[in-house]
Amino acid sequence: MIKHKNTKWMLILFLLLLLLFTLSSSSVFLTPYLYTLNENDPYIKWVDFNVSYTAMKDALKYDIDSYGTSPRINWIELLAYLAAKNGGDFSRYQSKDMSKLVTQLNSGKTIEDLTENMKYYDYYKEAYLAVLGEFVGEYQIETKDDANNSVYETKYGLKAFSPIAKNFYYNHYDDFGNSRSYGFTRKHLGNDLIANVGTPVIAMESGVIEALGWNQYGGWRIGIRSFDKRRYYYYAHLRKDYPYHKSLEIGKEVKAGDVIGYVGRSGYSTTENTNNIRTTHLHFGIELIFSEAQRERNNEIWINVYPIVKLLQSNRSEVYKNEETNGYDRVYDIKITPGLYD
Ligand SMILES: [Zn+2]
Repeated sequence: MIKHKNTKWMLILFLLLLLLFTLSSSSVFLTPYLYTLNENDPYIKWVDFNVSYTAMKDALKYDIDSYGTSPRINWIELLAYLAAKNGGDFSRYQSKDMSKLVTQLNSGKTIEDLTENMKYYDYYKEAYLAVLGEFVGEYQIETKDDANNSVYETKYGLKAFSPIAKNFYYNHYDDFGNSRSYGFTRKHLGNDLIANVGTPVIAMESGVIEALGWNQYGGWRIGIRSFDKRRYYYYAHLRKDYPYHKSLEIGKEVKAGDVIGYVGRSGYSTTENTNNIRTTHLHFGIELIFSEAQRERNNEIWINVYPIVKLLQSNRSEVYKNEETNGYDRVYDIKITPGLYD
């Protein structure tokens, strides 16, 4: 009798596990709690940005190669399509998955046709647009002609910059979510870029300076809000005594590629201008904001920027030493038209 009962429960447990496994391996199970469909105020509540560097690199190449041709391939749509299929998990991503999709698009199918029955495509598109929407597009970059005059050349591609200036050393690895213990036990919500003291820090994207000054954890830090207000860029542990570019002020605009500060090891102290970080590095983070309510502690959405920093390795801003300010300035200006994907 007892034996029979155990067998029955084992069978039920087995079936439940099987059901759970089936559901969790489809995208349907992974995301429903992420997106609130409140009629009055719908906004995304949470984003796990797990797009791999390789997937972004592949998608970006298809997008750029299709520029000026038909059909246009949108890298964010490619990534959102794959995410809707894999539940946002790119750990098993293979380049052939994307090339198959591009072949279909090139044969006349639209992304709308292909995603018609994909429940979470819209969610991923909106989420990835919030992350990457201003990274690619048309821009005018300054170059010098033979007479050393400035001329602007129109280009299409990455218009966001690596946070570390061109020709300066840095090193990093995926450290998002690692444990940190200063103050209280918490997770690491960014990417640490190991670099030498004084290495020029570059604004990844244009925006408005929202925070500037001392913070117990970040030390000398800069917070920049993108013009579309969706992203908050956080650059921390800047150099003692000379942390920022001299032109910076709260409320002022900065342009993608501008020098904004210098790498240091300030922070972990309530006393201003204290170097308490062991290894000199830039802490870099991006917070997503879909509603101002998400600015409150515990509601903040910080994403893993490691693959983004890796992607932007190919677009670094060149700088020169300004003898007057003893700081650095960018060599080539840029003119950016925002909102290509709006
Ligand atoms: Zn850090």
